[in-house]
Amino acid sequence: RALNFNAGPAALPEEVLKEAEKNLLNFSNTGMGIMELSHRSKEYQAVHDQAITLLRKLLAIPDDYEVLFIQGGASLQFSMVPMNLLGKDQEAHYILSGSWSEKALKEADKIGKTVISASSKDQKYRFIPAYNQNDIPDNAAYLHITSNNTIYGTQWKTFPSNKKTPLVADMSSDILSRPLGVEQFDLIYAGAQKNLGPSGVTVVIIRKELLQRSSENLPAMLNYNTFANNNSLYNTPPTLAIYLLSLVLEWADKKGGLQQIEKANEKKAKMLYDVIDESEGFYIGHAHKDSRSLMNVTFNLQNEDLSREFLHQAKEAGFVGLGGHRSIGGCRASIYNAVPEQHVEKLAAFMKAFKNNS
Ligand code: PLP
Repeated sequence: RALNFNAGPAALPEEVLKEAEKNLLNFSNTGMGIMELSHRSKEYQAVHDQAITLLRKLLAIPDDYEVLFIQGGASLQFSMVPMNLLGKDQEAHYILSGSWSEKALKEADKIGKTVISASSKDQKYRFIPAYNQNDIPDNAAYLHITSNNTIYGTQWKTFPSNKKTPLVADMSSDILSRPLGVEQFDLIYAGAQKNLGPSGVTVVIIRKELLQRSSENLPAMLNYNTFANNNSLYNTPPTLAIYLLSLVLEWADKKGGLQQIEKANEKKAKMLYDVIDESEGFYIGHAHKDSRSLMNVTFNLQNEDLSREFLHQAKEAGFVGLGGHRSIGGCRASIYNAVPEQHVEKLAAFMKAFKNNS
């Protein structure tokens, strides 16, 4: 297996891939592969229900929330959130902590009134910006945050808590990486292709009360109620992606759930941040220490030539996906749940050796 540090689509657990491989040709003695089954068959229904049940269990999702499977990626949620939740005379508040929040804001701007409540853009998104709860009116449609900033390598540690303003979070790159009280949020969305499975399915967790806001005039496929009223089976769901999601969730459950997963993630992240911190300025972390992400470790070397040489030698040594996002360059190691500890150990050793040989 490659030493895969891609940001997404990203590494999946080897056990999951092996299990899936067995079922590509003959699922549950049907004589049909998992992706050849009707989405109305009892065999597929069991997979679909299992994915929802395990998500509810692992994330401790209360009964007054719906779990929806939608296509179109997290990017479609940038539009669906304001289309469903932003009323004519309301404002939607956005905290900008990276490019994905900016993209979410840009789409909401097309739908209604928006306000930027806080931003760390002028500081190159090195930290999660502070915000003043009093600046967010009680009648705001919602407050939108991005819980983990995949590109800049920053992550929220605690969340805004104004009970009157619904909190919406894009958790694409850290869902399932740590326990979190879902009840702090009113809507959570996440594209699957980092911690949940392959691309193709987006998980939306929405407080049932919010479903009343959607206008009946919305196109069916853009209305959360269509998914909620039909157990996400109004039309053909991405059955293969949901099957893999169910296997990833089983894997996470067997690992001992989110507390154990968080511990493993903290251990992996520490290995890399320690190398950065002990390198006497050879590696320069992008994120401020108190905003560091456990999922995406971003860093630079002292100059571009050295960064390029680091990436070149890393590639030769078998490391995949260590280049920073094309918008900011530098280096990034994405260490989602499925990246084995041994792979991170190898990367930490490589970083130390590269420094000593430079
Ligand atoms: N939000 C975050 C935090 C992301 O990391 C990404 C993709 O990397 C997206 C949104 C966009 O996701 P998608 O490609 O599923 O639309």
